Amino acid sequence: AESTGAILVVSGLARSFGGVKAVQGVSLAVGEGAVTGLIGPNGSGKTTLFNLIDGTVSPDAGAVVLAGRALRNGDRPGRAHAGLARTYQLPRLFPSMTVLENVVLPERRFSLRRIFAARVTVAERSEAHSRLEKFGLAGYADIGPAELSYGQRKLVELAQVLTLEPRVIMLDEPAAGISPALSARLSEIIREVNSKGVSVLLVEHDLPFIEALCDDVYVMDGGVVIAHGTVQELKDDPLVVEAYLGR
Ligand code: ADP
Repeated sequence: AESTGAILVVSGLARSFGGVKAVQGVSLAVGEGAVTGLIGPNGSGKTTLFNLIDGTVSPDAGAVVLAGRALRNGDRPGRAHAGLARTYQLPRLFPSMTVLENVVLPERRFSLRRIFAARVTVAERSEAHSRLEKFGLAGYADIGPAELSYGQRKLVELAQVLTLEPRVIMLDEPAAGISPALSARLSEIIREVNSKGVSVLLVEHDLPFIEALCDDVYVMDGGVVIAHGTVQELKDDPLVVEAYLGR
């Protein structure tokens, strides 16, 4: 990974759980304005790496640097304010708020106090509405997220995360378990968000989805990065082929 022009630089991250070395010395970089993919078989350490980068899990070793500044371990709100945001495999939305309210106040993800303190302004409402429109979700603004499909909830979570105006978004299997139509829309949305300058780190099993979006891709296996390149390069890499076929 080239560190020149990188917005997110991860170096030497390591984390064990008991005797399991989930991530053992991973370094990677997301270029400014790039869409970088992260793939690997189940159990290879992708989720743990995401949790280390976003501060959910503290590393045994290593560092995360965003736009030249080292991020403090375990500080998720600090990361959000520094411009790093993420979505989850299972979207995390507030069930007691409407879809629109969920999109308006993403800080609520980090501060229970704000759930009650914050009021939605007219300007915020209209901005959230236009984002929902772009996502094809305008008709769902005033219902609860529980009434949406799983794929729609994933789109709402992405809309919510964008309200934070992040510089980097980390997407954890955004296309998993959603319809082909929603997946196509999601791909377009990611491309559009990226074209406005947001860099992306994307974990996904769907290789065509990865190939259509990613400038470069890291492959993990057994807690380490075993390959890095374009999808085309990786398809011919014997290490990568073995990691997938070997189990
Ligand atoms: P992936 O996301 O690629 O499927 P994970 O990061 O979930 O991989 O898991 C990597 C390894 O770390 C696995 O062996 C998993 O069982 C282990 N692991 C992850 N989280 C924990 C945890 N909280 N406690 C114990 N083992 C864990």
